[in-house]
Amino acid sequence: MRARNQHHHVVAYDHASHKVSRDNLALLGELRNAVGADQLRLHYQPKLLLADNSLVGAEALMRWEHPERGMIPPDQFIPQAEKSSIINELTVWALRSAVTQQSQWCAMRGMEQLKVAVNISVHDLMVPGFHDVVLQTLEQGNLDNGNLELEVTESALMEDIATSVDVLKRLSGANVIISIDDFGTGYSSLKYLDLLPTAAIKIDQSFVFRMARDAGSRQIVQAAIGLAHSLGMRVIAEGVETEENYSMLRDMGCDIAQGFFISRPLASEKFPGFSFQQQ
Ligand code: C2E
Ligand code: MG
Ligand code: MG
Ligand code: MG
Repeated sequence: MRARNQHHHVVAYDHASHKVSRDNLALLGELRNAVGADQLRLHYQPKLLLADNSLVGAEALMRWEHPERGMIPPDQFIPQAEKSSIINELTVWALRSAVTQQSQWCAMRGMEQLKVAVNISVHDLMVPGFHDVVLQTLEQGNLDNGNLELEVTESALMEDIATSVDVLKRLSGANVIISIDDFGTGYSSLKYLDLLPTAAIKIDQSFVFRMARDAGSRQIVQAAIGLAHSLGMRVIAEGVETEENYSMLRDMGCDIAQGFFISRPLASEKFPGFSFQQQ
């Protein structure tokens, strides 16, 4: 079983994604067992403060180590999971794992202030008692609430804004950090920015990719930074793949950067060895 896993691990994403799109239904059935069978993994992508290149956080990103299909990326199973209650099980698993991991890192020198970010689905916010589950997980993991960040995508929030606002306010009131993910890709974003207890926005990577070549994208990024700052929020840029983008974002006043230029998402055992090598 082990050797099999490792073999397919090498075959990786492309091969897997073809097969996955062909039979999503079978996959969803298997996903029900994935948590119990210990097939889910979190990889952690470093986030750097642009002002001084210091490590401030990590985003936990889920992968499914499937025994036959190899490592399956989240885009291939999270959208399916979101169509059923499986997503809630995945979220609870991710919260537990990330909180446990983070409380271990907090005991390491220089990593006490690190914030771990977990992606949650709007469907999680609709589960009665979700905020209690989050707070209990933090308590059981012996982690400060302020060390946990929850990333929610803006477009999804609109589905039931009243419930979303209520749950996120409770969590934010307990010091958990709330961020809006993929900012700029949703709709009605300005109205809801004001309603939601948002500590940070994450500018969608599509704007960051185009920024260096396209004045329009650059202006959108600049405006988003100004807007967020005027509302007292921090700005995280994702998809930072080049040094050019990294320094451009710093010059534009963006607070935090995340992307392949800094590091790819890392397996948990590799994360403490990360250090930023500026080229
Ligand atoms: P996201 O939350 O917007 O995460 C950022 C995605 O961009 C990640 O893809 C990350 O690996 C990728 N990325 C980071 N830096 C760069 C870069 O410089 N260039 C490029 N091209 N890509 C970069 P990943 O890990 O495949 O995750 C995709 C999406 O799946 C996430 O988007 C998130 O929406 C969802 N997801 C991942 N893990 C979870 C989870 O535990 N729960 C839920 N509900 N969703 C998750
Ligand atoms: Mg995210
Ligand atoms: Mg994003
Ligand atoms: Mg995304």
